[in-house]
Amino acid sequence: MTQSKTRGNTLVGLLATLAIIAVLSVALFYGSGAFGGEKKSSRADGKGTTVLGAAKYAAKDDVCRSNLGQVRNALQIVAMTNEDQPPADIKETKLPSEFYVCPVGGEAYEYNPADGLVKCPHPGHGKY
Ligand SMILES: [Zn+2]
Repeated sequence: MTQSKTRGNTLVGLLATLAIIAVLSVALFYGSGAFGGEKKSSRADGKGTTVLGAAKYAAKDDVCRSNLGQVRNALQIVAMTNEDQPPADIKETKLPSEFYVCPVGGEAYEYNPADGLVKCPHPGHGKY
């Protein structure tokens, strides 16, 4: 008798656990749109409408910021060996090609050889 009662409790616990996991995964994969809210992103480019998607694009934003920092450092190093003149082309920094494009949208970074400034044209990345 006690054994079958234990089994019953285990089954109820398992079902409750599965129900909780189901609700949580709906919230993760559908974001605010899952519970009747409007599905929209807080980002300027409108990407990442789910919780997981938002986390993924936040991480890629950080990669873009890091790429721009690497490119700016490399541009300074090239300028130091060139009488403080910024290089005519961003590729003179000799970084791998993935450092010259935004990891979110794939746009090439905009480089101005006149002042040596580089920026990302992706929406929301203007201040990086
Ligand atoms: Zn970017």
